[in-house]
Amino acid sequence: MDNCIFCKILHDEIPAQKIYEDSEVIAFNDINPAAPVHFLIIPKIHVASLMECGKTHQQILGKMLLLAPTIAKEQGCTDGFRTIINTGRVGGQEVFHLHIHIIGSKNRLPAMIHKD
Ligand code: 5GP
Ligand code: ZN
Repeated sequence: MDNCIFCKILHDEIPAQKIYEDSEVIAFNDINPAAPVHFLIIPKIHVASLMECGKTHQQILGKMLLLAPTIAKEQGCTDGFRTIINTGRVGGQEVFHLHIHIIGSKNRLPAMIHKD
């Protein structure tokens, strides 16, 4: 996809700190990390968000989710981590190429959504 920043990263058109790559997915560190470990797992096919996924994406979604703990452990998250997929306007999605955030720290992360 033209003008998709994550497509540009996966085609090496803009730099990123890649930490994993295979024929279907890449993982790279978030440019503005929310915690000591913060990386994104993206599919090599361009799909805008989880909302746009269908049956044909079942395999890649499963693969991305299963890679999360494997790469997280390699990155030092041996005692857990948080997995976030922001979807659409309400979800606060900023980059419209499907991605899973993996966020980890030595200490317990703050609550994701504060209840009033
Ligand atoms: P979203 O809100 O769409 O779920 O999150 C997009 C994430 O992508 C943000 O955490 C942001 O810091 C990250 N990001 C945006 N542009 C770039 C970039 O050019 N390189 C990298 N490595 N991360 C980016
Ligand atoms: Zn893309």
